[in-house]
Formats: sequence, C-alpha cells, structure tokens
Amino acid sequence: MADDETRIVLTHLRTSLNADPARFANNFFARLFSLDPSIRDLFPPSLAHLRNAFPRVVDHVLDGALAPTGHGALVELLAQLGRDHRKYGVLPQHYELAGRALEAEFAAVLGSSRTPAAAAAIGQIVATITGVMSGAAAKETGPPATPARVVQKFQISREHAVVRLVAERPLNYLPGQYVEVCIPQWSRSWRMLSPAIPASPTGEVEFHLRAVPGGTVSRSIVLETAVGDVWSIAQNHGMLRVDPNTPTTMIAGGTGLAPLRAILTGLAANVDNPPIHLYYGARHPGELYELATLQPMCAMSPWLSVTAVTEERDDPWWLGSIASPTDLGFPHMLGTLADAVVHDADRTPGYWDSRDVLIAGSPAMIETTERKLLINGASYRRIHHDPVG
Ligand SMILES: Cc1cc2nc3c(=O)[nH]c(=O)nc-3n(C[C@H](O)[C@H](O)[C@H](O)COP(=O)(O)OP(=O)(O)OC[C@H]3O[C@@H](n4cnc5c(N)ncnc54)[C@H](O)[C@@H]3O)c2cc1C
Repeated sequence: MADDETRIVLTHLRTSLNADPARFANNFFARLFSLDPSIRDLFPPSLAHLRNAFPRVVDHVLDGALAPTGHGALVELLAQLGRDHRKYGVLPQHYELAGRALEAEFAAVLGSSRTPAAAAAIGQIVATITGVMSGAAAKETGPPATPARVVQKFQISREHAVVRLVAERPLNYLPGQYVEVCIPQWSRSWRMLSPAIPASPTGEVEFHLRAVPGGTVSRSIVLETAVGDVWSIAQNHGMLRVDPNTPTTMIAGGTGLAPLRAILTGLAANVDNPPIHLYYGARHPGELYELATLQPMCAMSPWLSVTAVTEERDDPWWLGSIASPTDLGFPHMLGTLADAVVHDADRTPGYWDSRDVLIAGSPAMIETTERKLLINGASYRRIHHDPVG
C-alpha cells in the first residue's frame, strides 16, 4: 500500500497521463524502439490500436495500485495480458526493455514532482507489471495461436460477408466468447471477432463480418479474403452467457447476432432452457440475413422467440431479400432496436429486475441501447455485453 506522499504523486501521474494519453503512448513506444529497434517488427504497421489501448491499461494498473483492495483482479488482468502478448512473439528480454521504457516515461511525466519514495513505488509497479506478464506467458504451454484455413466465403451484401474456416486444432472458446484473429493481408494486426457457432471438435468456425467505414482489416476480409487463406486465431475472451434459471432478452444489431447465435445453438442441445426473446435488428429488412437460419431454430425451440426490427420498412433496390420477416413468420417492428425493445417490454413493475439482457452489435448500438434500457428501468447489473471498442 502506498503512503500518503506516494499516493499524491501517483495520482498526479495518472492525471498528467490522462491529460495527453496519445503523447504518453507515443513516447513510450519511441523509447522502447530506441532501446531495441528490432522490437518494432513485432508490432503491426499501424500502432493506432495500441496507442489507444496502452494508456488505458496503464491507467487501470495505476488505479488498481492506489486502491486498498482488488489487487487479485489486477494481477489476473496482467497475467491475461501476458498470455495474450505471446501471439506477438514477445520474449522474456522484451519485458525488461519495456519496463525500462515505461519507468523512464513515468519519470519524464512526473518531472520535478518525482520524490524518491514515489520513484521507488513506481519501480515496484513497473516490476509487478513486467513480472506478472512475463511469468504468466512463461507458464503457458499451449501454442499462442492456431492456424485456420478459409474453406467457404459468402458475400451477403456490399458490406457483409460470412467466412467459414477449419482450424488445425479444435478451438476451445465457449459459445458467446470472442477470439483474436489475424489475417494474411494485415500481418500482426489482431482484431476481435465473435464466432457464430459453438467450438467444434473438428475445428470448424464461422465469422460474420461487417466492413466498417474506413476499416482496414474488416474491409480486407469482406473484399479480399478467399478460400485457401490461412488466418491465425488466438486467445478467447468474454463472459456473454445465458443463466439457465433466468429469462433473457437478447438484442442483436447486424453481425452482433454472431455470439448470440452461438449461444442459442449451444442451448438448443439442452432439454430445458429459460424463455429467451431475441430482437434482431438492422437498417433494412434484407440485411437480416440470418432470419432463415433462426426460423427452424425457433420452430424446434419452444423457449425461443424472435422479433425482427428494422429502421426502414423496405429494402433499397440493391438489396433484394428473398422473403420479408413477416413471410418467414416473425413479428416485424419498425424503429431502432433500443426503441423497439423498450416499446415491446412488459410494463409490469419489476419486469427488468427478473431478466438478464444480452446486447451485441456495434459500439454505438450497444451504448444507445444500454442507455435507453437504463432510463426505462433496467438494472445495470442485469445488462451484459462485450467490451465496447
Ligand atoms: C468483443 C468484440 C467482438 C467483435 N466481433 C466482431 C464480429 O464478430 N464481426 C465483426 O465484423 N466485427 C467484430 N468486432 C469489431 C472488430 O474487432 C473490428 O473492430 C472491426 O472489424 C474494425 O476493424 P478494422 O481493422 O476494419 O478497422 P480499423 O482499421 O481498426 O478502424 C478504422 C475505423 O473504423 C472505426 N471502427 C472500428 N471498429 C468499429 C466498429 N465495430 N464499428 C464502427 N466503427 C468501427 C475506428 O474507430 C476507425 O475510425 C468485434 C469487436 C469487439 C470489441
């Protein structure tokens, strides 16, 4: 535990770091690469993702170090980061250099306010970060990533594609979890994707992709990925799941259906499940391409019901769907997912207290939907989604 003087300095360090996180990240990486230029080769061509994520992790660690409790969770987070970094080819000696670069940048940020006691506390924090990460990485015996070959690709629309792969070894993610993926067109640029089917003993896996505007990897997958490409699939994360004893509302925007579909497919093997209502939404009816898959699932699963939600009633000329949601037997609501779910909900007091809500989709859709549900009485602890961003 830090003494009062050290706490003041560490709090000042956090404030200064958060005032200009991009500068902190740039300086850290510049220091690291100058200590050993060959380390640059381990990182993706664009450091944009790391520049964004790195200061947030450091801030979280400093916050945890200042907190009186919760150090176990912090150690577990660092251990997970260490295991995750194996996929970059990070070696034990790199941790020593990263520690030196981090300590030097902390010292530069603090300047004259760096007291000897604070310097010692910072040295200890940096040693903990590098020690826990490298220790956890060294303990892990399995391969850091699994190669998987593309065996099928379906272009659903200009922006959407479904990609099926077979991995060299079975993948061990749980339904609803996401994995880290790297494609040959963007080496070392890892992105999170949610498998749309539960892990199979023979390594089959399916991803649903949306090319985001200005996106690099997602655009390449939708436009360039071809049968025969070999992807790398690493570490699984995430806690999305259905509690077997709790009625659940699922809200899926576009390709956000993938993790929820994997959960539903996994549940379909059970004799008994809680009631689940899925709201599946997109801008146009023709973008709800998974309705045809959900139809037989609904027919065989009395615990599952589905409502289609679209912002527009009709498809544009370039997006002709074979059948409308109503043709397929689904109720069809117009509006945003957030509005549809709130409008449709039972008004009985306590309704939202008795059910879980799982949301999956774009960061904007998750944030809007969560906010609307909270305003309308849903309880924060009942709403679950993957990290946004
Ligand atoms: C837990 C999790 C699971 C995910 N699962 C899937 C999935 O199953 N299918 C899928 O297609 N994507 C999924 N994503 C999003 C995916 O990881 C990438 O962020 C997305 O594909 C964009 O990557 P990019 O390289 O094309 O864009 P980048 O080159 O990284 O970014 C380019 C621009 O796009 C913006 N951007 C990044 N991500 C998004 C986004 N999701 N929506 C809107 N704008 C964005 C950035 O802010 C930036 O301005 C998931 C993300 C998370 C966090």
